[in-house]
Amino acid sequence: MTSDQREQRVVDEVPKSLFIGGEWREASGGATLAVHDPSTGGVLCEVADASPADGGAALAAAADAQADWAARPPRDRAEILRSAFAALMDRRDELALLMTLEMGKPVAESRTEIAYAAEFLRWYSEEAARIEGSYKVAPAGGSRLLTMRQPVGPCLLITPWNFPMAMGTRKIGPAVAAGCTMVVKPASETPLSMLALAAVLEDSGLPAGVLNVVTTSHSGAVMEPLIRDPRARKLSFTGSTAIGRVLVEQSAQQLLRVSMELGGNAPFLVFGDADLDAAVDGAVTAKMRNIGEACTAANRFLVHESVADDFSRQLADRMGALRMGRGTDEGVDVGPLITEKAREGVADLVADAVDNGGKILVGGEAPDRRGWFYPPTVIADVPVGARVFREEVFGPVAPVTTFGTDDEALALANDTEFGLIAYAYTRDLRRAIAVAESLETGLVGLNAGVISNPAAPFGGVKASGFGREGGREGIEEYLEVKYVGIAT
Ligand code: NAP
Repeated sequence: MTSDQREQRVVDEVPKSLFIGGEWREASGGATLAVHDPSTGGVLCEVADASPADGGAALAAAADAQADWAARPPRDRAEILRSAFAALMDRRDELALLMTLEMGKPVAESRTEIAYAAEFLRWYSEEAARIEGSYKVAPAGGSRLLTMRQPVGPCLLITPWNFPMAMGTRKIGPAVAAGCTMVVKPASETPLSMLALAAVLEDSGLPAGVLNVVTTSHSGAVMEPLIRDPRARKLSFTGSTAIGRVLVEQSAQQLLRVSMELGGNAPFLVFGDADLDAAVDGAVTAKMRNIGEACTAANRFLVHESVADDFSRQLADRMGALRMGRGTDEGVDVGPLITEKAREGVADLVADAVDNGGKILVGGEAPDRRGWFYPPTVIADVPVGARVFREEVFGPVAPVTTFGTDDEALALANDTEFGLIAYAYTRDLRRAIAVAESLETGLVGLNAGVISNPAAPFGGVKASGFGREGGREGIEEYLEVKYVGIAT
């Protein structure tokens, strides 16, 4: 089989319909939307384009299935997740190819994402049987205090295109484990990975109506009525801060439980005592994972003035050596950005940094080729007022500036509305602890360029949102605590 035939086969095998109430069905009126390959700009296939009526049918299916699903023994829910974990791992290579075709990242990174995504299902299969309550004697005596945790109810889950499967399993895993039903809306750029995941969960025995998937090109028109519908009890959103703000407002009407995993603007701090080789390694990972299209991507490199020149030069050498190309080709490190608009946005930020006095050490110009490619770019001497320091870059661009004292470094790091993650490199334990405590973020990478782990709570503060995904904390988002007072 040629590579073209293999690509065609993995696309052909994915269901292209809506998944509602355990059935694969066309969108009303037969509407479809095109899915593109960002490395060529070509159309991969068409999938169903749901209308608001289809969205309503999906929520109705989730609401109908809720009571039975909540009553299923936790072990049953766990076994389904565990079997879906195994199925994802068995089919890892073909699912990785599918993800690369619709999203662009190198296929080795897609394989890593499939394993990461699967791990959320395994972790929450283990948590499903450990949903606990408590029993206490009232301090004054005379009564007993019983607490129990129950599923919150039908959930609305909205996911972005940058990690098309892991951002889904990070929500679906705990929701299934907790006994919630759900309507999932993946990003219109990358619906195929979510449809493939739904098929895996169906084959793993998930009952009809527990998971419903609607793909649509009119996200707002389809989701707003569901968010305002009293049958929905919870909204979990991963995406931009701008859309998150709109959805929080919409959620106010029904006082929905809400989790928001939003944008970031991560500082990457390199102190004068850092192990510079490790810092450069970590910087390449924190910047280039997912082509820089990650909420955790290092966005602002803040480097002590004594090591800034060395650091910037080494970073430019490493970034310049990365191989750009179609993510399906072996040995490629950097795939295309998701859309032409995304590439234009990145190019604008680089132009602004240069206009403000930044010096390009490597990259800085989009290649003249098909697809939405932008090269790894390092810019030194960027003034902190430049747009690239204030906005999320979402591309392979590393702007560097310097600091003198620790206080200055922390003030720069915290000078942003965002608060998802920060990275710090230092060999001094006291400094490391002081810095970790002072950073206004939900996550800190200490001498580490990637820290995401399904067993750890992931989430932000400030304009990066609220709520946590992963770890023991992640399932709490899908559970309500009920207190029962018992007279004795
Ligand atoms: P986005 O434009 O906000 O879209 C996210 C999702 O929301 C997509 O499914 C999108 O669907 C949908 N959407 C857009 N408008 C909507 C509306 N009015 N009502 C309901 N749904 C709507 O973000 P993105 O560009 O896909 O993703 C990148 C952003 O996600 C970045 O800011 C990144 O930092 C953030 N992110 C955060 C985390 C985290 O855990 N904190 C993780 C990954 C990404 P359509 O695209 O089909 O319209």
